[in-house]
Amino acid sequence: ADYRELLQRLEREEPLSQEELARLLAVQDEAEEQALLTAGDLVRQECVGDMVDIRGAIEFSNYCRKNCYYCGLRRDNTVLPRYRMSEEEILATVDEIYRLGLRTVILQSGEDPYYTTEKILRLIRTIKERYGLRITLSLGERRAEEYRLLREAGANNYLLKLESGSPYLFAAAHPDDDYGERRRHLQLIKQAGLLSGSGNIVGLPGQTVMDLAADILHFKDDGIHMIGIGPFLPAANTPWADQPPGDLHLCLRVVALTRIVCQNVFLPATTAMATLHPRGQELALRAGANTIMLIMTPPQYRGNYQIYSNKNPVNLNYALEQIARAGRRPPRYLRQG
Ligand code: SAM
Ligand code: SF4
Repeated sequence: ADYRELLQRLEREEPLSQEELARLLAVQDEAEEQALLTAGDLVRQECVGDMVDIRGAIEFSNYCRKNCYYCGLRRDNTVLPRYRMSEEEILATVDEIYRLGLRTVILQSGEDPYYTTEKILRLIRTIKERYGLRITLSLGERRAEEYRLLREAGANNYLLKLESGSPYLFAAAHPDDDYGERRRHLQLIKQAGLLSGSGNIVGLPGQTVMDLAADILHFKDDGIHMIGIGPFLPAANTPWADQPPGDLHLCLRVVALTRIVCQNVFLPATTAMATLHPRGQELALRAGANTIMLIMTPPQYRGNYQIYSNKNPVNLNYALEQIARAGRRPPRYLRQG
């Protein structure tokens, strides 16, 4: 079918097949790509407006019991110095986030059993009591009843990326995980009353546009609320250290198509985009993205949260610059100066 006709069908909210979505990702020229990115930007404007939400992330532990092939935190990476932040250190960082005026803190780590449910619950309660911030957790797969307890204690969102909607690619990247089980966890998260976050990696070895179309159908069909889309980036001391990074333009097309298909969702301009290209976040914001996550991890630990190499340490000034370049506006709640 004609490219623009497919786009128009999407704009009329007609569901497209996996093949048709794949066709939209496999542009044949610059005009097709521009049409897709512009459509993504328009839907973003209609659905979520011009404000770019800014959130603060604390990467509180880089210990991980899993061995995902792409990730620098994988347990077999014995070269990486490991750290765990204490409760006091985490709370001091939450305090900084609060004082910037931000409204959401993201707590992220490797799959580290050291932080038991009890420890995390206490942390959530303290953050809620002292600061009243919204809390997003990204701790990996946890037991079914834990999601409920985390919700009851005050957590709002849980980010657990499916990484790939292709069972084959998922299996090829995750020696410890099961595709069906991961999808089930996303259901458990929703059933617990948490907003669910998923996302994918663009540029996994062997990935096709059909696989990426499957990712987008997963976001839509599973009612995912927050969708982290970023390129694969090679990480030192992993089995995939010599694989090429994902393609910037393909990432932007996936962002745009996801915005058009999923409409009213949170779509971050990811740190991975900022690492792939100096204007990566600006371009993602121009293609449908509407939020940026600041890395608030204390400087002495930041460098060791090396999920991939040469990670861009996205700070407030950098984020504000990307937002300004994209012609958008920062949140009014931000306290500056
Ligand atoms: N351990 C938790 C988990 O896996 O959900 C949270 C932390 S994990 C480091 C956060 C995200 O980093 C993963 O969802 C994955 O998409 C991303 N990631 C890890 N290694 C990556 C790489 N080499 N390139 C791109 N993204 C990567
Ligand atoms: Fe661990 Fe998450 Fe990295 Fe997998 S992606 S190795 S679970 S930190």
